[in-house]
This record gives sequence, C-alpha cells and structure tokens, in this order.
Amino acid sequence: MKLAQRTLAIKPAILQAVTTKANRLKALGHDVIGLGVGEPDFDTPRHIKDAAIAAINGGFTKYTAVDGTPSLKQAVINKFRRDNQLEYTPRQIIVSCGGKHSFFNIVQATIDPGDEVIIPAPYWASFPDIVALAGGIPVIVQADIAQAFKISPAQLEQAITPQTRMLILNSPSNPTGAIYSRDELAGLAQVLLRHPRVLIVSDDMYEHILFGDQAFVNILNVCPDLYGQTVIMNAVSKTYAMTGWRIGFAAGPEEIVAAMVNVQSQSTSNPTSIAQVAAEAALNGDQACIQPMVRAFRERHDFAVPWLNSIGGVRCLPAGGAFYAFADVREAIRRLHENRLLEKSDDVAFSDYILETAKVSVVPGSAFGTDGYMRISFATSMENLQEALRRIRLAVECAVVKAS
Ligand code: PLP
Repeated sequence: MKLAQRTLAIKPAILQAVTTKANRLKALGHDVIGLGVGEPDFDTPRHIKDAAIAAINGGFTKYTAVDGTPSLKQAVINKFRRDNQLEYTPRQIIVSCGGKHSFFNIVQATIDPGDEVIIPAPYWASFPDIVALAGGIPVIVQADIAQAFKISPAQLEQAITPQTRMLILNSPSNPTGAIYSRDELAGLAQVLLRHPRVLIVSDDMYEHILFGDQAFVNILNVCPDLYGQTVIMNAVSKTYAMTGWRIGFAAGPEEIVAAMVNVQSQSTSNPTSIAQVAAEAALNGDQACIQPMVRAFRERHDFAVPWLNSIGGVRCLPAGGAFYAFADVREAIRRLHENRLLEKSDDVAFSDYILETAKVSVVPGSAFGTDGYMRISFATSMENLQEALRRIRLAVECAVVKAS
C-alpha cells in the first residue's frame, strides 16, 4: 500500500528503539533500571484528581469549545499573569491535547513547504519531525558543551535566511537542562527584532523545575517588543505530574491562534473535557504542590552531576532546571572503542553497551541532534539513581582499567 510522502519525513525514533530494547531485556528477567523516561515519577496531586472525578460524576463529559472551556482559558490567562507577568485575552489562548499538540498546531498554522525553522541542538526530539511533517525545513544550529548548550546571537544571525519563518527556544531545555539568562535572551532578542517575520516559539514546559535561585524568564520578559512575534507554549504535563492527562496550551497573536483553532477543529476538536477540569484545578489551585517535586529533582540532580563527573571519560555540566543530565561521553566512547568493547565509535553503540552490561537504559545524545552524549532522566527514585550510576561507572571504567 502506498504511504503518503510526509510519513517518510519522520525519522524512526531512537528513543523508541531504546525503550523497546530495554523492555526486551526486562521481559527476559533482567533487572533493568530505566533512566530514559521524560516524565515525572510522582503521582498527580490529590486535589487535581478529585476535580476530575467530580467532573465525571457531575456529567461534564460532552464536547466543549474547540479551544478549551472559557474557565480553563481564564485560568491560563491568570497563570500567564501570575507566573510570567504577561497579559493575554481569551482570543489569544488555545488549549490543546498536550504540549506536543500545541507545537503541532503552531507549526501547521504557520509553516508552508520550504519554510525554514531554526532549531538549536541539542533539541527535544519532536521539534524537527513535526516541522518536517508540515513540509518545513529544520535548520539545526549546534550548541555543544563548549558553549553550555546555548546558541549565540551570532549563530542565530548566521542561520537566518529569507526563508526563515520560525525559531524555537526551549529553556530550561530538554535534554540539557540549560537555561538562557536575561542577558543571553536579550542578545538573541536584538537579532530577532531585526527580523520581524521570524516567529519565536518559546517552549516553557519546564519553567517551574529550576535548581538555582534565579526566577524564570522567557524572551518576552526580557524584550516585550517581541510580543507580536512570539507564541508561548506550555502544559500542565511536567509541572503537575500530569503527562497522561494531555493538556497543553499556547498564547500568541490572535490571527495565529485563530488558525491553530481551525487546525485543531479538524483533528482532535476539544481536549478531553475531564482533563480540562483537572488542568483548571492545577492552574488555579495551591501551587505549593509543585515544590516537593522540584526539591526531589534538585536533590537527584545534585547527587548525579558530581557522580557523573567522577566517572573516567565522562563530563557533565550542572543543569539549571528540568529533570535531565546531559553528559559528554565522547572520551568514554573513545576508550571503550579502543578496547574493542564498542563495535562502533558512537553514542548509540555506547548506550547499547550501557544497557547490555550495566542494565541501565539511557538515551544517546544523537536522539536530540548532538552525537557523543547521553541523557539520563532524574524521574526515578534516589535508590534507583544511585544503583544505576554505580553500574554505569563499573561498565565505563572497566575500559579505563583495561586501557592502563
Ligand atoms: N516540549 C518539551 C521540551 C518536552 O520535553 C515535552 C515532553 O517531553 C513536550 C514539549 C511535550 O509535552 P506533552 O507531554 O505535554 O505533550
């Protein structure tokens, strides 16, 4: 059967392959520790679940407005005012089925075949594929560990062509945890002000999961003049441990949001009515429920980063937020390859080796567009993390011992 051309634009997901291999080993009875997952290991807070249960029992189980219930949209508006000091009207807000769906809608509403989208790497793996599905051309700008995983204004300027239609910014970042400072955002903003046709998509999914003392800022906080050129996307998924509920939202210029609503009206229609009530409870409820989760992620981060740096051939920068460590394993790969423990000298072979020998699943950096790294997620208990890192050290350092 013939398949549509657009399906060929999507790369087979490396992440999926890692999960499949890990599950196969588990099924064979191996004690595999998963450090691959990108979702909080906490349960959704009680008051959020209770709101959803009340919605079901109260019969709130029918279609809603495509772009979200008026009361949830108001909760989103209040959230932007409270957390981000940004003002929006209801016509500038759309609620969708998760942050991924929000991004999908933004791209479908604004990208034509041949339009270029600048994606700083390492990137969240879905960005390029969703762009390619719309016929857009992902333009990858590399920012490795030497530049703390952040692109410079000069790199941005250089990447912009007459075909550029969009820039994606994701801070704190999945996979690196890197955060753009005020000054760094101001530098990028100066370039973007000179290119008003470039739409900025600010993915603020991890805004609350911060490890330092600095408050979260996005590019609009630093440069309000970009308001008409920016769409902010966010979701309840990571902040409130609600990945399965599938509620994301976006805010931006009215005409872009209206086009996104049209796209959504011919695909999913409204997000699930019950999940919308839960998201409203999350956004309007006591925000204190976020803090214990952030504290746990910070503790795990503070444990994992020094540990990773103590492994021969591994280097890891402290993350500013999110719940990942993105370690440079190029030297470890070189040593393992030299000792014939890796057939190929790349990070996919490395993560396979870690899975086979240490029984720990990690995600290779190339899944995020940057070869030579591994991402580990802190979305697991401290005990699991300690045991996993102990095993990774043994697997990697056995090569070092052999080498000496
Ligand atoms: N953006 C980033 C940077 C993410 O890491 C993720 C999820 O991993 C998403 C968007 C999508 O989140 P959701 O689960 O709400 O679709």
